[in-house]
Amino acid sequence: MITFENITKTYGGKTHVQALKGISLTINDGEIFGIIGKSGAGKSTLVRCINMLEKPTSGKVIIDDKELTAMSDSQLRAERKNIGMIFQHFNLLSSRTVFDNIAFPLELIGASKEVIASKVESLLELVGLTDRQYNYPSQLSGGQKQRVGIARALASDPKILLCDEATSALDPQTTQSILELLKDINKRLGITIVIITHEMAVIKAICDRVAVIEGGVIKEQGRVIDIFAS
Ligand code: ADP
Ligand code: ADP
Repeated sequence: MITFENITKTYGGKTHVQALKGISLTINDGEIFGIIGKSGAGKSTLVRCINMLEKPTSGKVIIDDKELTAMSDSQLRAERKNIGMIFQHFNLLSSRTVFDNIAFPLELIGASKEVIASKVESLLELVGLTDRQYNYPSQLSGGQKQRVGIARALASDPKILLCDEATSALDPQTTQSILELLKDINKRLGITIVIITHEMAVIKAICDRVAVIEGGVIKEQGRVIDIFAS
């Protein structure tokens, strides 16, 4: 379970923007939770507070009884292995093949060649890219690049997958197939998925519950079928 207790985030510097103004929410294990709002609403800041890529100015982030906001940087590094993330522009390494992109996080934790080979093979199968493993990112379509991003995010067996506008650079048909894949991963692996988007259709397609964020505040939250009824 992911719990936010009264999270605020103020960016320093000249701008001094208060991006989050007291966010409290709970995301249950195994659910697909959506966070929707316009550009600048604070979605990206919010999702980055889950893995502490951004540190909240005040408030608590608690995951499974562990308070991330009270942890040292080295404790956080260990905790982040439980949290995968995918991005709008995929963030793949262009000089590495599909196989080597997926292997990268495993190399970082010092996994053996044998472990890496079998793990990457099963991830390639999961995302349907076995026949593309020797290609470079520039040789892939957008949807295929995001499949690589998903496989890489899953390499360390996370319990949580964060998706930051993960389908916003894709056409509607490709978006549909990526959402199907995320749904499948949620069902098969039991991973909690948090999706941030500005698109209602994405939320309606796969989320169980949703929070609507505006100006750093949650305006509404609840089950998708209740909030977007009619
Ligand atoms: P969203 O993801 O909904 O577009 P963001 O979380 O990116 O919203 O941004 C929320 C607010 O915080 C915006 O006003 C944005 O300009 C500001 N902001 C985001 N990141 C930074 C940063 N690194 N430094 C200063 N201001 C930032
Ligand atoms: P999309 O609509 O998904 O962006 P593309 O037109 O980019 O589709 O690609 C269509 C197909 O052609 C995909 O299966 C993709 O893998 C393949 N493809 C695209 N560009 C290249 C390339 N430079 N080298 C090899 N295959 C490519």
